Amino acid sequence: MTMIILDEPLAKITSVGVGGKCKKIFMPEDEEEFINLLNSFEENQESYKVIGNGTNLLFSDDFHDFYVISTRKMTKKMSKRENYLTFSASASLFDCYNFALKHSLSGFERLAHIPGNVGGAISSGASCYGTAIFDRLEQVKIYHNKKIKMLNKNDIEKGYHFSCFLKNDLTHPFVILSAKFLLEKSYKCNIYKTYLDIASKRRLSQPIGKSYGCTFKNYNGQSSGMLIEKCGLKGAKKGGAQISNEHANFIINKNNATFEDFVFLIELAKQKIKSNFDIDLDEDVEIIK
Ligand SMILES: Cc1cc2nc3c(=O)[nH]c(=O)nc-3n(C[C@H](O)[C@H](O)[C@H](O)COP(=O)(O)OP(=O)(O)OC[C@H]3O[C@@H](n4cnc5c(N)ncnc54)[C@H](O)[C@@H]3O)c2cc1C
Repeated sequence: MTMIILDEPLAKITSVGVGGKCKKIFMPEDEEEFINLLNSFEENQESYKVIGNGTNLLFSDDFHDFYVISTRKMTKKMSKRENYLTFSASASLFDCYNFALKHSLSGFERLAHIPGNVGGAISSGASCYGTAIFDRLEQVKIYHNKKIKMLNKNDIEKGYHFSCFLKNDLTHPFVILSAKFLLEKSYKCNIYKTYLDIASKRRLSQPIGKSYGCTFKNYNGQSSGMLIEKCGLKGAKKGGAQISNEHANFIINKNNATFEDFVFLIELAKQKIKSNFDIDLDEDVEIIK
């Protein structure tokens, strides 16, 4: 296998299926190829954005004057030492859960259904049903400006659906290569049961269809989906996009929706919530104009 280089719209590599072209999309196959690529972008002072599975991103339909490196095709590396597990940035949260389950280690079973990979999940501060990716995180190996170094958990600025990696700009970003987690011994049947419980909760509450997950962060513990529902916006449509009838914090790409369709519905929800509840909602999805 050699590195894939695409000259396609970003819509092809985002879960919501929206986004215009960029300079090129690179999909390295392993860490060595990834680092060579990063070195060459750094040397040539190129602007670039590293992405994971593309499940929390809304790119505009315009041309993006930078390169995109997607880690989704990279070899997934997983290793264990005592109760410490180390995963490459490209491992999906489901891979992490599976590997942990094999070793009777608990910690990923609530996160396993989030469709991101380790790099994307740490960067976006993924969490689900009271468990955050940071809860078990010990160390992150990063690349920055042609150097590789380790960051301890306390060196990483983090919060609810936030991390310092989200402040990355397009020149000299801090790139996650791998991460080490400390898990807890448990019984396989308990780990598996929690996994199944969360799966059925998610199946009942989350819509099927092309999306980037939740549009807004919850506000002081209040569900943004509930606030949007109270504004009567469930099912609201613009072009090919629709606010989900099942979960109002999801906007679904029903039929070739454009970036503008999404932005219209996002702004509509924000305005209604401001006027009805005097609340300013923050976007959970990363919007790249
Ligand atoms: C159906 C659905 C359900 C979802 N449910 C949840 C949920 O329950 N909880 C939740 O928190 N989220 C949820 N999400 C959103 C999303 O899956 C998470 O935010 C996920 O962690 C993003 O991971 P990703 O690999 O797709 O990252 P991407 O979307 O590819 O990238 C996200 C950010 O991370 C950066 N990034 C990616 N890789 C690296 C790297 N190696 N180094 C530095 N920066 C990097 C990107 O530049 C970008 O800024 C859901 C999404 C969908 C589509």
